Amino acid sequence: MQDLALRDVKYLKGVGPARAELLEKELKVRTLEDLLYYFPYKYIDRSRLFTIRELDGNMPYIQLKGRIISFETIGEGARKRLVAHFTDGTGIVDLVWFQGQKFILDKYRPGVEYVAFGRPTVFGGRINLAHPDLDPPDKLDISAMGMVPYYNTTDRMKRAGLNSSAIQKLIRNMLSLIEEPLAETLPDWLVRQERLMPLDDALRGIHFPENADEMRRAQYRLKFEELFYVQLNIARFTCERQKRFRGFVLNRVGECFNRFYHEHLPFSLTEAQKRVVREIRSDVCSGRQMNRLLQGDVGSGKTMVALMGMLIALDNGYQACMMAPTEILSGQHYANICHYLEGMGIRVELLTGSIKGKRRQAILEGLASGDVRILVSTHAVLEDNVMFHRLGFVVIDEQHRFGVAQRARLWGKNNSNPPHVLVMTATPIPRTLAMTLYGDLDVSVIDELPPGRKPVRTEHYYDTRHADLYSFVEGELKAGRQAYIVYPLIEENGKMDLKNLEEGYGIICERFAQYGVSKVHGRMKPADKDAEMMRFKNGETRIMVATTVIEVGVDVPNASVMVIENAERFGLSQLHQLRGRVGRGADKSFCILVTGFKLSDDTRHRIDIMVETSDGFEIAEADLKLRGPGDLEGTQQSGIAFDLKLANLARDGELIGRVREIARGIVEKDAALSMPEHALLARQLAKLKKTEFDWSSIS
Ligand code: ADP
Ligand code: MG
Repeated sequence: MQDLALRDVKYLKGVGPARAELLEKELKVRTLEDLLYYFPYKYIDRSRLFTIRELDGNMPYIQLKGRIISFETIGEGARKRLVAHFTDGTGIVDLVWFQGQKFILDKYRPGVEYVAFGRPTVFGGRINLAHPDLDPPDKLDISAMGMVPYYNTTDRMKRAGLNSSAIQKLIRNMLSLIEEPLAETLPDWLVRQERLMPLDDALRGIHFPENADEMRRAQYRLKFEELFYVQLNIARFTCERQKRFRGFVLNRVGECFNRFYHEHLPFSLTEAQKRVVREIRSDVCSGRQMNRLLQGDVGSGKTMVALMGMLIALDNGYQACMMAPTEILSGQHYANICHYLEGMGIRVELLTGSIKGKRRQAILEGLASGDVRILVSTHAVLEDNVMFHRLGFVVIDEQHRFGVAQRARLWGKNNSNPPHVLVMTATPIPRTLAMTLYGDLDVSVIDELPPGRKPVRTEHYYDTRHADLYSFVEGELKAGRQAYIVYPLIEENGKMDLKNLEEGYGIICERFAQYGVSKVHGRMKPADKDAEMMRFKNGETRIMVATTVIEVGVDVPNASVMVIENAERFGLSQLHQLRGRVGRGADKSFCILVTGFKLSDDTRHRIDIMVETSDGFEIAEADLKLRGPGDLEGTQQSGIAFDLKLANLARDGELIGRVREIARGIVEKDAALSMPEHALLARQLAKLKKTEFDWSSIS
């Protein structure tokens, strides 16, 4: 009787083989347990009657008690509709039907009392209820109806009579079969400590709550449980990984670090940078392998922090490596690092795919002997013939371009322990998501820009104002500055279309004939792209017309304008990344978002956020709310977002923080979950894991 997971939904009263097949195909509901966990997507409060006088066009579903005064047929053809004028003595509303009019006229009579249930809208100065439910009041027990649950169903299901109220009936049938309380899935101590509803109450309450408060408490309990087991799983996984991999202990802070810090550092670190350096230091001394995600907005000085981490590795006799996703970026890092470390006698090399022959051979030898102490590289470092003497510290810039498998290969470069890993990203991941996705990575944040940065001023232009826009750009060029003009890459039928870019380039070349104009897009050969970027960087060209290939990392401090054409085609985080390309020099910088007149609400919202804030974290949170976590990079592969039925990563941040704390506390005390008060947790986790994805893939 009790194990609902073993009972086929087919044998439930009202189901049968045909409906069972539909339930499985359309909703993946196969057992009674699946059905029990198929939750309503909304509730409508039918415990109260409204009066017509109270209504406005802004209310959810309501019900009224009154009589039909008269029927009237209005309009022609497809717009033909049946209207019933309906009153309860406080006013008149129109009940409207576009279909089934004959049926309505046969079934309902003027002068008879009905309860009308529907959503009020305003049309022609009157309140309308379109396609209301109409029932004689003696057939309804209003006070007993309470909150009515609504379930999502598909068209195919509806055609077979499996609509929301049919599902509701099935669930009622099922709950009436279950006599004993459903077995609790959280330990008693936890239920009591967190004042949660017991599982049995919560499952009954989520389907048929008596009031809104019960509904919320039931939802909270079930959401809590969902998130709790995710976090418990992550906490255990982290703990296992830490046991499996010992880390090199880098406890010396010596010559390299100190000399650099005191004699070479060209500015003082921001407080945020100092804090992160301390966090890294304590990681690398801990005896565990560091896996730290360093988030910081573009230009916040992550690279400097990473460099100081690498110097600690050098002080302890290890080599360090920094990886970037493109040749341009690694070249830039290499140049910066050489510049910072000038005169310190530290051998730094750059290894990319285009470095070949003798030069490459010399670098490889230097790496193997330990003579090369810092390597800056691209994917080229992953090749098998690249061997280090003692690699202790790896920095990965812009993590999303490096897959998990690639990171694992880097670890394999050592025979003994894996190096410490610092992953830097300028696309801040909202805290809630980071805690779920990267639950096993520690997260550091640089939330402060170096002093003297002026925020980039962001403006929205409609595309009818190109003349104004171009004279503004010209003003900046005349003042000696440079500008980016970015076009979207349009994907049609799987083909990437550069039409916008090519057209734009033609227009810009004509309009700005006396200035050099560069053009860069992803379909160019890397070498051509790099050459063109260099021309812009050196100031030979003053305008860079590009697709989003410039999104990541290019540093041209003299550029003060970023124009983004068809800004409606870009996501928030992309817009923010692009904007980060300017505002790097001391000059006032501008970002101009150009769109057409017709904008969807979402787009307008995106543009407003961009204009209002330059805080990457705020933008990331807004992005998560707008798009939902399913779209964000990484969540797809991990599958996490899909298995949450109730919890919402965008909205339940506080709860996620809370359950994570509890989960960590438990694992710290009892990683194996072998204590008696944790037995239930171990069983539940084992049960969930059987049905879930492979957790090891998210590290
Ligand atoms: P990120 O990698 O976070 O985008 P970078 O490390 O490239 O940022 O730093 C951006 C610029 O700011 C660089 O030119 C760097 O030299 C400079 N910078 C970094 N930290 C500071 C600081 N504390 N004070 C002043 N300038 C800094
Ligand atoms: Mg950077």
